[in-house]
Amino acid sequence: MTEQSSAQTTHALPSYLDPAHLGPWDTYLRQVDRVTPYLGHLSRWVETLKRPKRILVVDVPIEMDDGRIMHFEGYRVQHNISRGPGKGGVRFHQDVTLSEVMALSAWMSIKNAAVNVPYGGAKGGIRVDPRQLSRGELERLTRRYTSEIGIIIGPSKDIPAPDVNTNEQVMAWMMDTYSVNLGETATGVVTGKPISLGGSLGRRDATGRGVFVVTCEAAHDLGMELKGARVVVQGAGNVGGTAARLFHEAGAKVIALQDHKATIHAEEGLDIPAALAHVAQHGSLEGFAATNISPEEFWALECEFLIPAALEGQLNAGNAGSVRAKVVVEGANGPTTPEADDILQENGVFMVPDVLANAGGVTVSYFEWVQDFSNFFWNEDEINQRLTRIMRDAYKSVAQTAREHKVSLRTAAFIVACTRILQAREMRGLYP
Ligand code: GLU
Repeated sequence: MTEQSSAQTTHALPSYLDPAHLGPWDTYLRQVDRVTPYLGHLSRWVETLKRPKRILVVDVPIEMDDGRIMHFEGYRVQHNISRGPGKGGVRFHQDVTLSEVMALSAWMSIKNAAVNVPYGGAKGGIRVDPRQLSRGELERLTRRYTSEIGIIIGPSKDIPAPDVNTNEQVMAWMMDTYSVNLGETATGVVTGKPISLGGSLGRRDATGRGVFVVTCEAAHDLGMELKGARVVVQGAGNVGGTAARLFHEAGAKVIALQDHKATIHAEEGLDIPAALAHVAQHGSLEGFAATNISPEEFWALECEFLIPAALEGQLNAGNAGSVRAKVVVEGANGPTTPEADDILQENGVFMVPDVLANAGGVTVSYFEWVQDFSNFFWNEDEINQRLTRIMRDAYKSVAQTAREHKVSLRTAAFIVACTRILQAREMRGLYP
């Protein structure tokens, strides 16, 4: 990381923004620096984007099944609420840090503004490996965390949702805990809930579907065919798994799939339904009957579309030079470091950035929240049609901005989003 990137401020830095330990937050700060020259008079407000509005760190103690008391570290960060309530997922992962949650919350601000849903950005997480917990321990952890962050969340304040290693069951516990504490059922406090509790049809597949829709738009723009195209996907979870299935159904060849345990490859195209059924049954791709390749070979596969849909920093200075994909579509949040971004761009790889590519999830979260408020539920076709329209329109307006300013889609998405956020900031003014 460079000193200059994070420290372009005339204000004293809070201690948690120590330039020496920024992690993914540094990636985000560098992305903001790149967009600042395009913000015109609004750049006066850019410092607003460089520090989260509100950070809550909570201790989450639970009693384990064997009687031990364990403490876990939990976070909820509200990066920006200029355009509406905070919105963003909750991640359970052993490597979660405050810097990571700060970056993820900021990317939610950008994402929500880029697709123009009326939210600010927020994110939460617990530093825990949920695979090590029993169902009872996971429930107690989720409920205690929800109670601890209950002082800042709410249907019109900040609305959590699923992210890495959290699902509909976790959202049901969060909704129930918040509601019990409040004394009334508040379905709108989280999205990504089960259908039986005010969840939305199409939410589970929404992020993967959005990735698919923007990939189709990019293919169209570049004069590429999806049918028969070679696709490489990192991640076989909610995002990567759904995207792989939709590409497979559209006649593309998913030639490689990687999860946290295995990397499988078949040049003629993998049997995606069988691979996903294996993941559903065994929890990972490990043991699936297909050729295994190394991570190095995986990144270097020649293909039309490469979809990183797992964690941050996967495409970095170490492997970006070996990438032989024509297009990278970021299903994950922050999968490409700024160094890798430059290398890929120099090598002519077309990048569709996370804040656009994976916005399908929060878009259907928005539909879920609207449906909960009005107690009127839409059918799946309506949801998918509206999702497709929003994703296509967002892609088109970002692509248009990219052409106007001769910048990458990432910088263009940041121009569109930061302009919307800072216009709202300016109109609201500072109080007092
Ligand atoms: N966790 C998802 C994301 O990173 C969805 C957030 C939401 O639906 O609020 O975009």
